[in-house]
Amino acid sequence: MLSKQMKSFVPNVCKHLVHNFSVQCGNKTAYPILQRSDIFRDDSKGMANKSKTSSIGLIPSHTDILVIGGGIMGTSAAYWLKEKSASKALNITVIEKDPKFTKNSTVLSVGGIRQQFSLPENIQMSLFGAEFLRTLKNRFGPDADICYTPNGYLTLVGENKAEQLLDNHRIQKELGACNIILNKTQLKERFPWLNTDDIELGCLGVEKEGWFDPWSLLNLLKKGATDLGTRFIHAELIDFICTGNESDVQKPEVNQLVEINEAIVLLPNGEKASITFDICILAAGSESKTVAQKAKIGSGEGLLSVPLPVERRKRYVYNFVSQGEPPGTNTPLTIDKTGAYFRREGLGDGFIGGMSPVASEEPETDTLEVDYNYFDDKVWPILAERIPAFNSIKVRSGWSGYYEYNTFDKNGIIGRHPYYRNFFLATGFSGHGIQQGPSVGHAIAELILHGKYRTIDLTRLNFDRIINNNPMYEVGIV
Ligand SMILES: Cc1cc2nc3c(=O)[nH]c(=O)nc-3n(C[C@H](O)[C@H](O)[C@H](O)COP(=O)(O)OP(=O)(O)OC[C@H]3O[C@@H](n4cnc5c(N)ncnc54)[C@H](O)[C@@H]3O)c2cc1C
Repeated sequence: MLSKQMKSFVPNVCKHLVHNFSVQCGNKTAYPILQRSDIFRDDSKGMANKSKTSSIGLIPSHTDILVIGGGIMGTSAAYWLKEKSASKALNITVIEKDPKFTKNSTVLSVGGIRQQFSLPENIQMSLFGAEFLRTLKNRFGPDADICYTPNGYLTLVGENKAEQLLDNHRIQKELGACNIILNKTQLKERFPWLNTDDIELGCLGVEKEGWFDPWSLLNLLKKGATDLGTRFIHAELIDFICTGNESDVQKPEVNQLVEINEAIVLLPNGEKASITFDICILAAGSESKTVAQKAKIGSGEGLLSVPLPVERRKRYVYNFVSQGEPPGTNTPLTIDKTGAYFRREGLGDGFIGGMSPVASEEPETDTLEVDYNYFDDKVWPILAERIPAFNSIKVRSGWSGYYEYNTFDKNGIIGRHPYYRNFFLATGFSGHGIQQGPSVGHAIAELILHGKYRTIDLTRLNFDRIINNNPMYEVGIV
């Protein structure tokens, strides 16, 4: 059940509080509510064997909060909502269309966390994430392990970006990051394997930065959310049904917020079901725009005419071994001034690396096929120039994943959609979402449970900025 605060924040949204296992479609198409357990799968089977999270249950005809997408954003939002809610009865359902996570960005991520951003909100979210990771065992028990490697990030710049690096560093320090600036000589002393000829400065994270296993973090959050009573369901959102008739939705009365209260989902056996909800959270990663379109976002009038600017962008990650004397085990994730990066992978001789392409060279996004020529032609020459030991390397493998890329300003879009009283967004993190996952879920929970942000004010990252053409650019995109 929704808490008192939630009821006051979302008036008129709580009509369907106790509707379990019955069809509530009014005069709309009545989709069957399937009650046989064979239509449900325990989607923990698609996760690592590290944790067994039971998610078997019936598709509910109603849920208080429906979360679309079981990646880091959706799972974290579900976890925090349950963790922070005073009411144990708060009913949360997460639907995930691909429980094997074949295209999910979270599990294909490089898992880096850094405070080396330009926007205060991004720095604060990453600091929250670092604290969350530091205290993981207190929250999830002594076995909670995400293979955290605290080696920091090293961002290198030439003369033209030195001032910007110093400005960013000042904000990062003010907000609590532990980064230091190194000049050319200091860089060479500390990292003898680095070619610093055309480098002016470097920013090195000495605490709270590094990388971890995103899959393990997702599992822990999912287990936490499940233990607190969240239901995870294998289903695809295929449509929304808005309250009222079509014209109400297209042209509401002045100042009247519109509700959206019913989702149509496709089940693995091909059948469709209806789930009514009081609140919906859209966390569908790189497919968020398509899901938003089902709620007429981008295809209506007025506030609905503005699409959610989140698109797929394919990013390659290459796994290689150095045949020269490689950088040592204390090597940070190093970002070259060109944007090419590399880091160690494990304690052996392996490294991973990659680079975002220029806009004109964005690859197709139909498949996750890896283009190894891109490494040979674009990435390797840069890495070999910067780290002479990489002149001789052997590529062992590679993978690719989709950035849920915000084409408007490359930053997360968080908060309530201005048109709907009960539709929340958590998407568009453009390559820095894994570290922000704990914080974004926490922020969404605050917004829903308390009606406002209490810990980090993320108001500037809401959808309104897109409508008002007020971009929040982040220079620290990799
Ligand atoms: C190669 C790569 C490297 C990265 N490196 C880093 C890094 O070092 N640091 C960092 O902070 N971030 C990094 N990121 C970014 C980070 O992984 C993402 O920002 C983050 O994982 C996004 O999480 P999400 O939950 O929004 O999306 P996802 O993890 O993609 O989850 C969304 C889920 O929604 C589901 N879904 C979609 N449509 C529907 C529907 N209609 N019905 C039901 N379910 C649906 C999808 O199946 C998917 O599982 C990287 C990303 C990539 C691709």
